[in-house]
Amino acid sequence: MKCGICGRKLDQPDDPLSTDCDGDCWGCIGEIEADMGDLESLRRVRKEFEHGLRPDWVDPATSG
Ligand SMILES: [Zn+2]
Repeated sequence: MKCGICGRKLDQPDDPLSTDCDGDCWGCIGEIEADMGDLESLRRVRKEFEHGLRPDWVDPATSG
C-alpha cells in the first residue's frame, strides 16, 4: 500500500509518518487536519516538527 497523496509506503516500522490513514499516510493527513484546525492533529504535527520529522512544515500559528 502507498499513500494516495504523496506515494509514501504505508505502515513502515522505521517511518513514523507512514501510518495508514484510510489509504493516505499520516504525514499528509496530519498536515491537512492541522490546517483545518484539528487541535489534536496540530499537537501531534507540532511535536513531529520539533523532532525534525517534518522539516518543511510551517506552523499555521506562525505563518501569518
Ligand atoms: Zn502521504
